[in-house]
Amino acid sequence: MTLHVPFDNSYARLPEALFTRQPPQPVAAPRLIALNEDLARLLRLDPAALRSDEGVAALAGNAVPDGAAPLAQAYAGHQFGNWNPGLGDGRALLLGEVVGTDGVRRDIQLKGSGRTPYSRMGDGRAWLGPVLREYLCSEAMAAMGVPTTRALAAVATGETVVREAPLPGAILTRVAQSHIRVGTFQLFAAKGDRDALAALAEHARARHYPEADGIPGLLDGVVAAQARLIARWMSLGFVHGVMNTDNMAISGETIDYGPCAFMDVYHPATVFSSIDQFGRYAYQNQPQIGLWNLAQFASSLVPLMDDHDAAVERFTASLDRFADLYQAAWLEEFGAKLGLADAGPDDRPLIEELLTLMATDGADFTNAFGALGTPAARDQFTDRDAFAAWDERWQARRPDLALMARTNPKVIPRTHLIEAAIAAATAEDVAPFERMLAAVTRPFDDPGPPFTVPPTDAERVTRTFCGT
Ligand code: AMP
Ligand code: MG
Ligand code: MG
Repeated sequence: MTLHVPFDNSYARLPEALFTRQPPQPVAAPRLIALNEDLARLLRLDPAALRSDEGVAALAGNAVPDGAAPLAQAYAGHQFGNWNPGLGDGRALLLGEVVGTDGVRRDIQLKGSGRTPYSRMGDGRAWLGPVLREYLCSEAMAAMGVPTTRALAAVATGETVVREAPLPGAILTRVAQSHIRVGTFQLFAAKGDRDALAALAEHARARHYPEADGIPGLLDGVVAAQARLIARWMSLGFVHGVMNTDNMAISGETIDYGPCAFMDVYHPATVFSSIDQFGRYAYQNQPQIGLWNLAQFASSLVPLMDDHDAAVERFTASLDRFADLYQAAWLEEFGAKLGLADAGPDDRPLIEELLTLMATDGADFTNAFGALGTPAARDQFTDRDAFAAWDERWQARRPDLALMARTNPKVIPRTHLIEAAIAAATAEDVAPFERMLAAVTRPFDDPGPPFTVPPTDAERVTRTFCGT
C-alpha cells in the first residue's frame, strides 16, 4: 500500500527568511493511536494507506512522503504581554499543504517531531497527554462548528520524554487552513524585513481573505474573523488560556490547545492556566485580549503602507469596529442559545441576567443552557424563585427549542474526563479516549454519563498546565 499525499506547498515557495527547511527526526517505535478518517478523506488521503507501515512512518516523521517540503516556520510574539522576538516552530514542522475535496487549502503539520533551530531549551518533543487533549478539544470544536485547527492523527513514538516525570512521547498531525500567526507578521516587522513581510501579507490575504482589498482589507478580515471566533468561544464557556500573539491565527481558527478548558461551573473570572497568575487570559478578558492582539497585528502591517500616518488612521478605524462586531456576534450566539433567532439589543438584559444567576448559583455552564425549557432547568439553580421569574420572562419570548437543540451542546470535553482519558492512555488503555472522542464529536446528541455529568468537588480540575 503506498501513501500518496497530493502536496502543493505554497508557503515553501515564499522567501526563505520565513522559515528553515528541516526534516523531522525519526522516533524509535511508532504506533498509531488515533486516525481521523473523515478528515483524511477531506484531504484526499487514503485512510488505509495512512494506517499502513508507510503511513504511520510518515505520521511519526520516520519517512518524508514524496512531495513534502518540511520546514519550521519562524515567528515572534507577545507572551503574556511581553515581547519575545525568537519563537518559531520549536517542535513542529510543516510537511506541506494539500487542497481538500472542498477546495480548501490546508497545512499538514507534525507537532512533536523533534528539535528545530527555534527549539531554544526545548527537546522538540511532545508527550501523549497534550497530544490527546488537543485531539479531543480541537475535534470537539470542529464538531460544534467552531473554526479550529484539526487533528488528523496521534502516534506514540515508543520513546520517553522527560517532563516532571518520564512520560510516553507522541506526535500529533495537525491540520489548519494555515499556521500563520499574528506573531509571524510581528517577527518580520520587528526585523525590518519588508520583502518577507510583504510576501507574507499577500500570501495570507490571497489564501484566507481573497476578496479583501490590499493590506487594510486583510486587517478588516482578520478583525471580523477574530470577533466572531471569540464570541463562539464565549458561547461555549471556552477559556483558551494562552492568547499570546503567536497563538492567534490569521485564518481565524482556534489554535494552540495548551492549557485551555471548557468551564464546568460558570464564572466570568474563570482562569485555569497555572502560569496565568494575574488572570490576563480569564474568560471575560478574552475579547479585550483579542483586540490587543489585533492592535499588534495592525502595527506590524504599518511598514507595508506608503503613508504611515494615513495607515494608522485607517487601521485604527478597522480596530474600532472590533467592539461592535464582537457585541453583535455575542448577541447572536447567546440569543441562539436562548432560542431567539432574532435577538436584538433589547434581549441583552435577559441574557445577562441569566448569566448573573448562573454565576451566583454556580450553575454548570453547559448543562444549565442545555436544560432550559425543560423541567430540569430549575435544578441547575439554587435560587429557584429568581430562576422562575427569569424563566417566565424568557418563555414570553417564545423560544425556538429546535434552534436551542442545535446550538447548546449536550457534551463538551470536560477537563476531569480529559485527564482521566490521558491517565488511562498513559497506562496503555486508549478505550476511554476513544469513547470520549466519540461523545464529543457528536456534541448535540446526549451521550449520557459520564460525559454529561459535571465533576464533583473532588474531581474538579481547577488548574491546567501548558504541559508540553
Ligand atoms: P506555546 O506556549 O505552545 O505557544 O509555545 C511557545 C513556544 O515554545 C513555541 O515557539 C514552541 O515551538 C516552543 N516550544 C514549546 N514546547 C517545546 C518543546 N518541547 N521543545 C521545543 N520548543 C517548544
Ligand atoms: Mg503556540
Ligand atoms: Mg502550545
